[in-house]
Amino acid sequence: MECFSLLRKDIPALIDHLGVFGQVIAPHRKGDASYSFETVTDSSKVVLDYNRTLLPLKKNFFPPVEKLMDFSLKDLSYTTVEVPLEPKVFFAVHSYEMQSILRLDHSMLSGNVESNYLNRRQKSRFVGISFIPDEFHFSESVGITIEELEGFDLYLNEVEDDFQVYVITKKGRSLIQGFNKLRTTEPEIVAERKFKTKIRYHYNRLPRVFQYAYHADVWAEVASRCVGCGSCNLTCPTCFCFDVNDEVTVTAESGMRERTWDSCMLVTFAQVAGGENFREHTVNRTRHRLYRKFKYITDEEGLPWCVGCGRCTAFCPAGISLPEIVNDLIREDEKARHHQRVLV
Ligand code: SF4
Ligand code: SF4
Repeated sequence: MECFSLLRKDIPALIDHLGVFGQVIAPHRKGDASYSFETVTDSSKVVLDYNRTLLPLKKNFFPPVEKLMDFSLKDLSYTTVEVPLEPKVFFAVHSYEMQSILRLDHSMLSGNVESNYLNRRQKSRFVGISFIPDEFHFSESVGITIEELEGFDLYLNEVEDDFQVYVITKKGRSLIQGFNKLRTTEPEIVAERKFKTKIRYHYNRLPRVFQYAYHADVWAEVASRCVGCGSCNLTCPTCFCFDVNDEVTVTAESGMRERTWDSCMLVTFAQVAGGENFREHTVNRTRHRLYRKFKYITDEEGLPWCVGCGRCTAFCPAGISLPEIVNDLIREDEKARHHQRVLV
């Protein structure tokens, strides 16, 4: 793997250079305590040392609100909205965020390909960056190291306040072609960046825990604190549920179809015609959310569908922590197995 050294002060020049390839999207400060992936208009405004953005990178491939088509009720015709193929460079992306895009690829491109997602994804390039875990990150517990390179074209590893640039793909090589502030060097071993938050079991033991956790006491305790706001799903980078609505003009001659993100934590999510709701109670919705992350898809794909970004915990108004729920389930499971052994 090729490796170059890059001074921190030359990062804006690198971002400007990447702008030749296409639109550059990178983290920017939003208010006092928040960050957001935005299109770069001034490379000096890009933030490298951020913990997490409020909304995940997913919003660029699968927007929160998206018009799908216009239709006419007069002649029963319709025109779909075409998403153009545009080259884009996503800059300063953390490894768990990249892994969430790879999981979304699976969700959106397996079977019936979601063509708008595919068009946005095709000409996208990714430049990763290392980060220091805060009290909410736990991606290591779901098998994603800080230096995980899968999916990236280039990766910036911070070394003593400057950076080493790893070239991961041929596309990455072409991104830095002609940029003259890089110096060839050898990759350095960086001191381990420790995670403060951990799930106690290796992630491959979690499907077994969840196999017996359906009636655990933990669900009711968590549900008693949850206010059902849906923030945990709406900030999650791997959640992909959506709603589709048609809006018809007052003359009933035409209309448009729109897709919006939905959240399985909202009480209306599982409401069906006739007023029935098959996940009416918070306890059912809480359990369902966690089973979607650690059991249902994991049984099929062999990977947790949680990437440990910590958003659902950091932005939960009730302070509900996903790793704490999982650790409580593990504890309850251990207790149950201990009782079984005593009885045998
Ligand atoms: S963010 Fe917290 S309070 Fe809101 S639905 Fe999720 S778990 Fe419940
Ligand atoms: S479940 Fe929570 S920690 Fe896991 S990927 Fe979603 S928002 Fe991040």
